[in-house]
Amino acid sequence: MLKDRLIRKTVSCFPATEKMFRELHRLKMKWNFRRHSRGVILLYHRVSDPSGGDPQLLCVSPENFRNHLKFLSEHFIPTPVSELLAAPGSSHRIAITFDDGYRDNLTNAAPILEEFNFPAEFFVATAGLEQKYEFYWDLLEQFFPLGNDWNVELEPQTENQKRYLRECSIFHNLNVSGREKRMEQLAAELNRETVLRDKKRFLTPEELSSLAKKKNITIGAHTNNHVSLAHLSEEEARREIMDSKRILEQLLERNICSFSYPFGTLADFSSREKRLLEEAGFSYGIANYESPVLKKTRYDVPRFLVRNWSVEVFAEKIKDVLP
Ligand SMILES: [Zn+2]
Repeated sequence: MLKDRLIRKTVSCFPATEKMFRELHRLKMKWNFRRHSRGVILLYHRVSDPSGGDPQLLCVSPENFRNHLKFLSEHFIPTPVSELLAAPGSSHRIAITFDDGYRDNLTNAAPILEEFNFPAEFFVATAGLEQKYEFYWDLLEQFFPLGNDWNVELEPQTENQKRYLRECSIFHNLNVSGREKRMEQLAAELNRETVLRDKKRFLTPEELSSLAKKKNITIGAHTNNHVSLAHLSEEEARREIMDSKRILEQLLERNICSFSYPFGTLADFSSREKRLLEEAGFSYGIANYESPVLKKTRYDVPRFLVRNWSVEVFAEKIKDVLP
């Protein structure tokens, strides 16, 4: 480790050497991917027209999604997540997942998946099924109008954009009651009320049941309130995990044995959460950091986050993991 750091520090003084070092590192990674990859898991959130504002970059347009699936079915073997994880197989295998539980998962994504006979796994934050609120990042958008073309990967220009980013990072670290309190404070401070908007709607329980009945579709848990588990007490984290499992099992009358960590970065879960998943009887836990599935892993499975890319950009982005 120390040796690696010293080499990096030394080469960073010489740009040409640094470039060569980076290229060697990239080639080493690619060689590892080819040699050890069991396949690749993709993460989508929504299939919906992003025009009209999509600051979190969650939407992939139906046209781009269809083109992604066409490209994938020509270059990869569509595989359910459970199968990809269960045994070593071709590095050509690809699994598709969706997080959160927006309504367009049923209305827009499912028909296109069916068209290509693609299996997919949907991870649902269950509190949304009650249709009582929008996710905090959607609510904050109502408090701080951002303009249709701005997103979180761009430099914030307006006061609203700056405040939105600040509030998003505050909300990310709060537990449920902390969020409710802060949301009330914001409403009072800004003297503004939020409304439930159709374009940000969750699946209803009936819609989720109908999605779950479709061929090749698996449903998994994603906590009850879409919280960053690492920021909760152990008791709160356990409750979030167990509640989402119980609610889905009661509604769908089936065993729910997969889970995806909300936000899913390595700062959002740790060995504690992996243990809680195992204790709760989940077979695997899916994260959100980029890597092909390189080894037998159960509770920190990596995924590639997909944006609203044209098929050309999409192909370019995943070319390093193509066998
Ligand atoms: Zn999520």
